[in-house]
Amino acid sequence: MKIRDIHTKLATRLRLSKRFDESSCAPGLGRMVLSAEQQRSSRLMSLPLEIRTAIYEEVWADAGCVQHILLRDGGYTSMKCITTHATSDDDLMQQCYNHGRDHFEDPVIWRRLMSTWGNHWACEELAQSQTGENRSKGASRSQFLTLMLVCKRMYIECRASIYSNVTFVVHDIKTLHSITNRRRLSLMDEVRYLNIAARLPIRRVSKAKMSPEGCATMIVWRECCRALGELKHLKAVDLWLDTCEPSWRAVVCELQDGIVNPYVFNDRLASVLTVDLPMNPEKPEVWQSIAAIEPRFQIRARGWPLFRALEGTTTPFSIIKLWPSAEPGAPQPPLVFGTTRCGPRRPRRRAGILGAG
Ligand SMILES: [Zn+2]
Repeated sequence: MKIRDIHTKLATRLRLSKRFDESSCAPGLGRMVLSAEQQRSSRLMSLPLEIRTAIYEEVWADAGCVQHILLRDGGYTSMKCITTHATSDDDLMQQCYNHGRDHFEDPVIWRRLMSTWGNHWACEELAQSQTGENRSKGASRSQFLTLMLVCKRMYIECRASIYSNVTFVVHDIKTLHSITNRRRLSLMDEVRYLNIAARLPIRRVSKAKMSPEGCATMIVWRECCRALGELKHLKAVDLWLDTCEPSWRAVVCELQDGIVNPYVFNDRLASVLTVDLPMNPEKPEVWQSIAAIEPRFQIRARGWPLFRALEGTTTPFSIIKLWPSAEPGAPQPPLVFGTTRCGPRRPRRRAGILGAG
């Protein structure tokens, strides 16, 4: 970020700002006992708090106001999020549509559809493009830590500013469980805004059993939800939810019993929660059992995907276009008995060419 840029932005903010209420921006600072050494530790501390606060926010914006938390090599690290929630899923469907075929092979799009980072597939690719050396350099230059470590007072101001301005993203259950249960991060106690992207190993148990590993993951998921429900400062939690296996995606549209049910939120968590689901926003009757779950939470129907990746086929990286009847709640074609057709026939499934949803 250029000095001229921050100067211009600060000048604009100061012209537009109302009378500054210091206590509203940094509650509790008055109680701080600062040594003379600490006060001299930075020229920044001689500036009015309003300007310091503006500087912090510009620095966070430059570093990225949405940050992934990653469990890596036994410790935590952060990474700027480059995903726009509103377009990531649509972008992927558009990439599939651009192929102009109902069945095609594309390793890049296939990996994006199956990304363990969920809708943050672009962030995954960014992380993979960074070498270990670059990652360590990036960590050493963390703009967050650089300011926080200046002095005790700035550390507290920065913490307050970060919690008010930064959204944290967790895209895997292992990290989520670690920061909420196993090696709880202190920042989680005061975090305000949290995005979660989760692919859960759930199936329709009436048709296929959950694997022992899948059941274990769902137990971990429940522990995460319980811990999140205890965080008193959470103001908004955005959960992007899908299944690990695309062929079982429709399961999240129905209320399931037992360990398969991922909607285990207490009152506190549900009150701040928005769940983003692969559902048709024009067919709320299809997912009304989810909408009726108590305690209620917000639902964002991102639309039923038109394409999905195939797994376990002889042709790798296969992607298919789903038939309209594969969508939950869509009219099903009548059964065909013998050679008599009882109406529009659903095209025969050929070696994984067509998906059941
Ligand atoms: Zn991201």
